[in-house]
Amino acid sequence: MRHVFGPVPSRRLGFSLGVDPVVPKTCTMDCVYCELGRTTDRTVCRRRYVDPEEIKRELRERLSERPGLDHVTFSGSGEPTLSADLGDLIEYARDRTSVPVAVLTNGSLVGDPEVRSALRKASVVVPSLDAVSPEAFERVNRPHPSLDPSEIVEALARFAADFRGRLWLETLIVADMNDAPSEVALISRAVERIQPDRVQLGTVVRPPAEAEAGPVTRERLLEIATALGPRTEVIAPPSGPSQERAGGETVDRITEMASRRPVTAGDVARVIGMSQAESAKILDALVREKRLELVRLGERLYYKAYLDREQS
Ligand code: SF4
Repeated sequence: MRHVFGPVPSRRLGFSLGVDPVVPKTCTMDCVYCELGRTTDRTVCRRRYVDPEEIKRELRERLSERPGLDHVTFSGSGEPTLSADLGDLIEYARDRTSVPVAVLTNGSLVGDPEVRSALRKASVVVPSLDAVSPEAFERVNRPHPSLDPSEIVEALARFAADFRGRLWLETLIVADMNDAPSEVALISRAVERIQPDRVQLGTVVRPPAEAEAGPVTRERLLEIATALGPRTEVIAPPSGPSQERAGGETVDRITEMASRRPVTAGDVARVIGMSQAESAKILDALVREKRLELVRLGERLYYKAYLDREQS
């Protein structure tokens, strides 16, 4: 499977089957905290990145194996609204599962009527909004030059006004980049304008694209949550019941999970349905085989795809 992956544990969506309609790493932005690494194709050009029939075939196969999901989620190697097939693919997924279909987006293309019409087909839309001032937007999101944060806020407000599903705004705070009181006040005003169902507030927890993108303290995050109002919740790392262990493909599934985004031994244990000691043993063996590498962020250890720096 190249375009459908997981399920992966998501802080926001529980156990989520991922659908990736673009290719690495295509995005309208190049966020300093991005867990996928730096953007290699920063574009605002919507087009077909992947044959939609391939995605549909993979979805059919994976959905037939895995009931028990919390969401089917369009995300992956960049910004999913860049895919011109997004609306068609959401409709296809919706017709084949009773699980809600979600889209994680950076919100930058919501001003485009075709993007709004695609997103309206989803049950849950999770746009991110990390900054409103041009300076902080540039610092944190390093956007395509054509993007304007005020226009994005207005477009999100227009979309929210007639979207019938759930709209969860996500804000990620990076220390010394978008945590100043003046920026938080601007984000708070934008939240009032957009009126999302929830605001999900987080900070850097996985290895970021740029080493200088660091987390704020939990205390600061709670202060910001208060400033953003009662709809705001601070998102904690995932926890929940284990999934059934997947037959004889465990090692491949673990490698696939870690190649999509950095994972902890706890993430793997929950998804595969094994003890954390067992998952750590497999992950450490994969590190020794140079299929994965270990990265420390604060006190947590993450496993990610091995990058042969001598060849890259
Ligand atoms: S975090 Fe999202 S919006 Fe930012 S660069 Fe990564 S994929 Fe793009």
